[in-house]
Amino acid sequence: MQYIRDLYIAKRAINRPGISFEFFSPKTPEGERAFLEKTVPELALLKPDYCSVTYGAGGSTREKTLMLVDRIQRDQGLTAMAHLTCVGHTEDELERILEDAKALGILNILALRGDPPGGAGDFQKTDGGFEYSYQLVEFIRRIGGFCIGTAGFPEGHIACAEGKEVDWQRLKAKIDCGADFVITQLFFDNKDFFVFREHLTKKLGISVPIIPGILPILSASQIKRFTAMCGARIPEAFLGKLDALGENDQAVKEFGIEHATEQCAELLREGVPGLHFYTLNKAYSTTQIVKNLKLA
Ligand SMILES: Cc1cc2nc3c(=O)[nH]c(=O)nc-3n(C[C@H](O)[C@H](O)[C@H](O)COP(=O)(O)OP(=O)(O)OC[C@H]3O[C@@H](n4cnc5c(N)ncnc54)[C@H](O)[C@@H]3O)c2cc1C
Repeated sequence: MQYIRDLYIAKRAINRPGISFEFFSPKTPEGERAFLEKTVPELALLKPDYCSVTYGAGGSTREKTLMLVDRIQRDQGLTAMAHLTCVGHTEDELERILEDAKALGILNILALRGDPPGGAGDFQKTDGGFEYSYQLVEFIRRIGGFCIGTAGFPEGHIACAEGKEVDWQRLKAKIDCGADFVITQLFFDNKDFFVFREHLTKKLGISVPIIPGILPILSASQIKRFTAMCGARIPEAFLGKLDALGENDQAVKEFGIEHATEQCAELLREGVPGLHFYTLNKAYSTTQIVKNLKLA
């Protein structure tokens, strides 16, 4: 298993992008079996550089994150990263989770604040816990032994009323506290990513890898729900095409593959150090995109 920061250095040395796949914890035992026995092995055939597993906003799936990361590492021999959020945790609890992660040989943590349970309302800090993710980054750095990823928002974080440049300044604070790389929120217009990257690198002097997060669209209703929740913009032409395809999910999926392939091809031409795919635990679209890009 590798520290992800080392992996990006190694990929840069051979002029290849780092490819990573994000998964979420399935909610049922049957879903978990299908995930571990079918979805992960199928996507592992593409030889990603690493995988990551999200930390659920609340409830039982949270305990599963470390278990699934461990299974991916042991079953597939792939480096995997555990997401971790501040939601509902005291410092002591976070420390115990990090100790458990260390005992399992998990070297990489994506340190997040998390969203309020249910995704609604303002974030409430837990007594004895953290209010912002930079504090979690600082905490993990103090504990030591982990490579730390952090989230970045090319269109600005939805709750940052002061505007995106203020949010990006806060991203710099997370890096100053010890984050080793950035994975972005999904976006559909590469211009947003390029403006964000230019600001971070040229104005704020950030030099850690900035990895675009790519979402292969699976259905029109799902993407409208996601973007409403996270504040990402669907460009007008793109929305028009989605509306024209309506509820024809197979056609939407194929359109999503075509769009993401073009999006990734441009990002690669513009020198991104890697691509992080939000797989939504489905192998088909991500596989097609990676193959189209000849990255398998
Ligand atoms: C790649 C990726 C993976 C994700 N995985 C998960 C997951 O597994 N589980 C999950 O629940 N969520 C996940 N999320 C969602 C994420 O938790 C939410 O978007 C959350 O609202 C913000 O998290 P953050 O770590 O960026 O928070 P923060 O960096 O704490 O920022 C949150 C808000 O606080 C503001 N802020 C930061 N510092 C300060 C300060 N000092 N003073 C005032 N305001 C400040 C920021 O501008 C922003 O508006 C993920 C997001 C991304 C991009």
